[in-house]
Formats: sequence, structure tokens, C-alpha cells
Amino acid sequence: MQVSQFDLPAFEEEAHEKWTHSFESNPSKLEKFYINVAFPYPSGAMHVGHGRTYIVPDVIARFWRMKGKQVLFPMAFHVTGAPVVGISKRIANKDEKTIRLYRDLYRVPQNVLEGFTDPLTIVKHFAAEYQRVMTACGLSIDWRRRFITVDPTYSKFIEWQWKHLYEAGHVIKGAHPVRYCTVDDNPVGDHDLLEGDKAEVIKFTLVMFRYGDAFIPCATLRPETIHGVTNLWANPTVTYVKALVDGKAWIVSKEAAEKLALQDHTVEIKEEIKGSDLVDKKVSHPLCGEITILPVEFVDPDMATGMVMSVPAHAPFDYIALRDLQQAGKYKDIKPIPLIKVEGYGEVPAQFAVEKAGILNQMDSRMDALTQEIYSAEFSKGKLFEKYGGKPVRVARDDVALLMTEKYDSVVMHEFDQRPVVCRCGNKVKVKILHDQWFLKYSDPAWKQQVKDQLTDMALVPPEVRAEFDRTVDWLKDWACTRRVGLGTKFPWDTTQLIEPLSDSTVYMAYYTIAHRIKEIDSKLLTPEVFDYIFLGKKSEDLPEKKKLDAMREEFLYWYPYDFRFSAKDLISNHLTFQIFHHATVFEGQKNLMPKGMVVFGMGLLNGAKMSSSKGNVFLLEDAVTEFGGDTVRMFLMGSAEPWQDFDWRNELVLSTKKQIERFYNTVMETKDAGGEPHDIDRWLMSRLQAHIAKTTEALDNFQTRQALQESYFGIETDLKWYRRRLGKDCDGSRELHELCSVWVRLLSPFIPFTGEHLWKELAGEGLVSFAPWPVANAKLVNVRAELAEELLARTVEDIESIRKLIQITPKAITIALAPAWKYQIFQTIAAATDRNMVVKEIMKDESMRKRGKDATDAAKQCTTLIHRLPPHVVEPVAKEPVNERQVFESAKAFLEQEFGVPVHIVDAEGSGHVKALTALPFKPSIIIE
Ligand SMILES: [Zn+2]
Repeated sequence: MQVSQFDLPAFEEEAHEKWTHSFESNPSKLEKFYINVAFPYPSGAMHVGHGRTYIVPDVIARFWRMKGKQVLFPMAFHVTGAPVVGISKRIANKDEKTIRLYRDLYRVPQNVLEGFTDPLTIVKHFAAEYQRVMTACGLSIDWRRRFITVDPTYSKFIEWQWKHLYEAGHVIKGAHPVRYCTVDDNPVGDHDLLEGDKAEVIKFTLVMFRYGDAFIPCATLRPETIHGVTNLWANPTVTYVKALVDGKAWIVSKEAAEKLALQDHTVEIKEEIKGSDLVDKKVSHPLCGEITILPVEFVDPDMATGMVMSVPAHAPFDYIALRDLQQAGKYKDIKPIPLIKVEGYGEVPAQFAVEKAGILNQMDSRMDALTQEIYSAEFSKGKLFEKYGGKPVRVARDDVALLMTEKYDSVVMHEFDQRPVVCRCGNKVKVKILHDQWFLKYSDPAWKQQVKDQLTDMALVPPEVRAEFDRTVDWLKDWACTRRVGLGTKFPWDTTQLIEPLSDSTVYMAYYTIAHRIKEIDSKLLTPEVFDYIFLGKKSEDLPEKKKLDAMREEFLYWYPYDFRFSAKDLISNHLTFQIFHHATVFEGQKNLMPKGMVVFGMGLLNGAKMSSSKGNVFLLEDAVTEFGGDTVRMFLMGSAEPWQDFDWRNELVLSTKKQIERFYNTVMETKDAGGEPHDIDRWLMSRLQAHIAKTTEALDNFQTRQALQESYFGIETDLKWYRRRLGKDCDGSRELHELCSVWVRLLSPFIPFTGEHLWKELAGEGLVSFAPWPVANAKLVNVRAELAEELLARTVEDIESIRKLIQITPKAITIALAPAWKYQIFQTIAAATDRNMVVKEIMKDESMRKRGKDATDAAKQCTTLIHRLPPHVVEPVAKEPVNERQVFESAKAFLEQEFGVPVHIVDAEGSGHVKALTALPFKPSIIIE
């Protein structure tokens, strides 16, 4: 028989031809299933991390398609925003690093690269690349619906969406602190950041220490600790400045002077002061008296004002820095001044914690965690000493801050809670107070409540992310929603501004449902009334192209709401939550149009390190597909972790996945045409297959791609191996195997659709496997007794093998000794017992057991251990109805003798004359090798 070889590139070519328009999905009589995934920002080539983001929804789409649903899986490209403008500028300026990235890593041809001085050319180029590579990965996307977010038609849709947001009072103008890039002269969104996307803007109180005719402001989150300040810290290697801030002299770092100027202060720098010149100088504050400035190098000039007040009794860093100086013999008269009592941390909490943890110096990696621990403990259960008012810390903190602001010249300074925060242009991002800035009012409690209500009704996968969504809704503050620079839709109420990228990508899932149809209408005709009609069913006079609008209305209502949205977990804190806010407003009062579920992904690693294009630590998806094949990439990404877990791409592991697919292919090709008569073992094989079908289905119902592959690939492969072994060399299996192959190919097709299509053709399956019916477990083929019998045999074979290894003699015969009926009785009593400790008493109630004395109590102990070891799917049926062990082994005698090459005897343990035989237990015969 001529068997066609495993040839992935050939299968891919074959499938692409068949699939050309297959996944274009229209409303039908079938029930719909609509999934979508956060669309990409195509400013560079896709890497394997992107691959998983789009392959997971594709596997799910393929699964539901085979389950008989009408599936919609669309894709578009998000080209809004400033990053690409920066890239084009850097390319125009011949920036070597950027050109290297695009020319060498992304392999953009020179003539194309020359056009990259126009930002739109960049995104259009990579959008086409994305589509090409996504197709190469076998994604079953309806490409008719593709759009980019600067299409005039899409802009009309955004204007309509924003009209609703505005009318609902969610779009406001005001002054707020925002992340700001002074090079781009633009607020900075998460997508514009190279580093620090988790950084939040927090409010510090500046404590104003008097230094001659000037102030030295120190930023703190804990103003109440002023009573425990023993000194200030200055960095002797830093250059400070004396500046007039709102007319008063301040001494701060150079960096701080720049920041203050962005936060509603007039700043005029007068002179520079070396940090070393500040050391040993005296400062004072009415709440702590006169103290000294001490030198330390941990003070970062880029953190707040660059000067730090030291509270060694309550801050581990301060405590250690002081201890270091004192161990060198300096400043020995300074003692920590405790002011907060907190249970479990001794007299001086920072000292207590540092000594307990055994921390030797400032460099210890545990310092941050320790600092956080003390801060939290003091905030939640600490109280100020009586002489400082005796209030709980959480109350005293605000009181002291207010007092300082009113009486002691304190002001607020905004700063990030972590560093560095770096813009894509390479500049350090600062906090700026923006005036006349437009915001989305996410702080509005009523709006938040609408989102919370919606979240309770949504399916969130995995369930643990629910808490993170809740936290985000609570924490969200007003969001600067316009930008001066970039690509995008003009802001309707100030056309010098653009709607920023995270604010124009929140309801586009609804737009997908009509994206292919609306292209046929001139964008000038697309008034808000048109969209009101399509999406909200609001009728109005003189609507253009009424027939086309009706068709769109119908199609929207068929698909919407979407069933599941997929995205990486780093979008929970912005996009995934924003989209619910926007849906709640646009579709207010239409509960039936609100999103139904979300699936959140883990992150991708490359050889154990975080993938990052800018750092060059990526493996391009296209290279992966070329080197290993689309199916291999898919199966590796789906099988190495569940979608919400992080995965690690390693070429050597991917290579072994390729070998697995080849093994699967060869096995199907070799067994599909078997024609033998069914044996007993076929009943077992088909029974097992039903369980694999059920478990694979259940796993995919729950988006567990890894679990599904374990069942459908490894589960069936292991069974087939055992089946072959049981049949012996001369028999190549029964005609039942054709059915098994058909099921197997369908179960794996969502994961490896290219190989799947080819094998489906080889199996003479009808149509495309992509639309073949998903296998359904047949309860009639489930045979628990056959499975138990085979499990007993397999376990016994394993036992024989391990004993043989242990004793290391060439055996002459094997005896299998079977447990007597009374031990089965004990087994059943124990398995049924609710309290296993009472079970011996229970057994001894029986007259015949009492007669057996110690034998019975020993057997009870052994049975208890055995029951703990056996899986529940064995214990339950065995306890209900004992397996006829003699029959199992007699009928497998020939198999056993062939396996081990010696005569096999099957005997009853009692009366066999073997001492060892007496240890035989139910489902665990004793084995005697001679
Ligand atoms: Zn910038």
C-alpha cells in the first residue's frame, strides 16, 4: 500500500486552497457563536506571543463551528495613536536603532522601509503582513469584515459612539494629573509606553523643612511620621538647585524642578548646589525641631524632590542607612524615635523587622517587601503614641496632612509609584497637570455601578480574574481621552484634538457585525441617525439606503451581543474594563446587547525570559511557521499551558511537538484501513474513546486547550499503544479502528487543522473537516466492566515488570494468585464506610471475620491503604461488584505468556501453598516469580 508521507507544507497549501471563502460567516438558521479578540496594533512584525493570542480564539471558533454553531470570528487593525508617528519620525531622522529593528528584525525590504517616513504606510504595511501571517497560522477569520481604525466609515461610527458618551455626561473637561511626554508634548497612554505601564500617579505631601531662607521639601505618603524624623537624607553625588517656586526659595533636585513646573508651579532656577555641600547642615520643622542632613546614595534625584526625610523607627531603608553610618563611627548620637505602636513589631518596628529578617545591608532584595509589610501593618492596626494624639494611623495621616497644608506650607506633589516610566520615544515620562483637557469620567460612581452590574452577569475565564476587574472598576479615575498627535478620529468638540487609542476601540465588536456591508455606503451619508437605526433600532425620517440599513440591522441583531472576548491579562486594567463602560452607555437599557463573557490570557516567555520586541527577545511567528509548520506552532502553543497561564517558547520542545503530529499522522494512516474482526479489546478501546470524547469536549467548553490536548492526543495515543500490545504482532486491528480514526482526526482538527483536512480526505470524510460534526460520546459504547478488567490487567503487568526489575533473575514461570472472596467483603465495607477509623469494629461484628482474627485486621489495614491508592473510578465499581479476576487473567493468559515469555499460572491465593500468595488483595493479586 502506498502511504502518502507526512508533509506539512503540502497539507498547508492544500488546505489554504480549500478554505478561501469558507470562514465567511453570514446569519443563518443555526444558533450563532460570536467571538472576537483584541485587535492588534500593527507597528511591527508578529512574534509567537501574538500567535497564541489569536490561535486560542481560533481553536475555540473551530470547536464551536464543528459543534454546529454559526461562528463569527472577525479581525481588524488598530492603527490609532502616536507610537507610529514617533517611529516614522525616527526613521526619517535615520535613527540607527529603529532602522535596525525594522530592517533586520522585522526584515522590511529597503524600498518599503523608505516609505516608512509616512506613519500610515507603516501600519498599512504591517496590517497586510499580519493578515498574511494569521492566514498562514490557519486562523479561520472572516476577512470580509477587516477594517483599520482610520477608515472614514469607522470614524463616523466613533463620532456616533462619542455623541452617546457626551450626551450621557461622561465626557468632561477639567484639570487632572496625567502621564506626559515632554518630547512629544502629548499625554501618554499605556500603548505609548516602553516601560512602566503599571505605574500609577499618586499624591505625595511635601513636608517643608526650613533651611536658612529657603525650604527643603521632602515628599512623603506618611506625613504623620513627622514626629519621628531624625534627619534628612541628601545624595552627595547629586546636583541640587535653589529655585524660586511660586516666589519662594526651594532646594530640590534638578529633575524635581522640571517636574514641579509641569504641576501648576512657576519655577525659576537661581543656582546649583552640590549635594555634598548640604551634608551636615541643619534644617528644622515645627513638628520635629532641628535635625541634620546626612549623606546617603540611595536617594534618587528622579524620585519626587530628590530629598528624603528619615524616620528610622518605622522605615527599614532609613534604619539600615543610619545603622551603616553609625557602624562606621558617625552620627552616633542619633536614635530612632518610635511614634507608632503596632502589635507584633516590638518597640521600634523597623529595627525589629530588619533584625528578624536578618538583613545585612541596603542592597538586600527583601527590603521593598519588608518596607511594604511594615507600612501595611502600621496603616491597618497601628496607633500613634498618646503624646502624639493616640489616633489610629489611618486617621492621623489625613489630620497631619491637613495641618501641614494649612499651617506649615505643605503642598501636594504628584509622582509615579514606580520607576522608570519611559515613553516609546525614549524620553522619561513625567506627571503633568493638564488644564482644558478632555476626560472620560470613569470616576463617576453611577457609571461604575452600571459596569459592576454587568460584570456580575458576565462569564469571566479564568474565574480568578473577577477580583481584578472589580478592583479596576473601583480604582479607575478620569481618563484623558484626547491627544494632540497621532492618527485617529478627530474629537468632535475640539477638532484640533484626536480621540486617543484606548478610547476609540471599545465598541468596535458591534461594528464588525456590519463592517463588510457598511463599506458599500458613502461615508458622508453616515450620520449618527444612521447608526442609531442600525444599532439601537431608532427610526428617523429620510434615512439613506434604507434597504442596506435594514440588512445591517438584521445582521447586527443576529450576532450581537458577542459571546466571548479574548485578550491578554495586561488589558484588564484598561481596555477590557473600558469596553464595558462604553457598552453600558451606548446600549443603555438594552441588557440583551451587553457583552456576555471574556477570556483572559497569560503572557509569553521566550526561553524563560519575557518577550519584548524593543529588546529583541522575540521569535517571529512567520519564522516559526516556516521552520516548524502552522500545525506545530498551534499545537505547541495550545498544549504547553492553559490560555490563562504563562507559556514558554523553546525551540527544542516545539520540535518534539512536530514529531508528535507526525506520529499521529502515521498512526492514522496505518490503522484507518484495518479490517479484522472486533475482539474483546475493541469493546474496551471504544469505551475509552467515549470518555476521551466527553473529556475533550468538556475541556474545550471551558477553554482548557491544554487539557483538551491531553485527552484527545495523549489519551487516545496511549490507549492505542495498549490495544496494539494486547492484540499481538500478527493482528493489525479491527475495522472499528476506522471509526476511531475518524473521531480522533475530528477531535484534533481545531488544533492542527492542516493535518486534519488532509487526513479527513484520506478517511473519505464528507466535506471539510473544519465543518465536520464534532464527535459526541455514545453512552451505549461505554463499558465499565471491560475498562475495569483491562485496568486490572494493565496494573498487574506493571507490577510484574517492576518485580522483575527488582529481583533481576531470568524467570521460569509467573504465578498470579487471586484474593479470596472474604477480602472482597472487607474491601466493600471499607469503601462504603463514612468513617474509615471505625471500620475494623464494623468488620469484626461479623462472626466469620472474628474467627479469622489477625488475618482479618491485617487485610483491613492493607485494603485501606490500597483504596487510598486506587483512583475513585476503580474503587467505586469494584466495591459495587467485584471483578471476576480469574476470568480476566484466564482470557489474557496467552497475552501474558507472550509478553513475558514464560508459562503463567493463575491460582487462588488460599490453598496455593505459596506464603507470598497470602498478601493478595482485591484488584491486586500477588505475583510470584520463580
Ligand atoms: Zn515621547
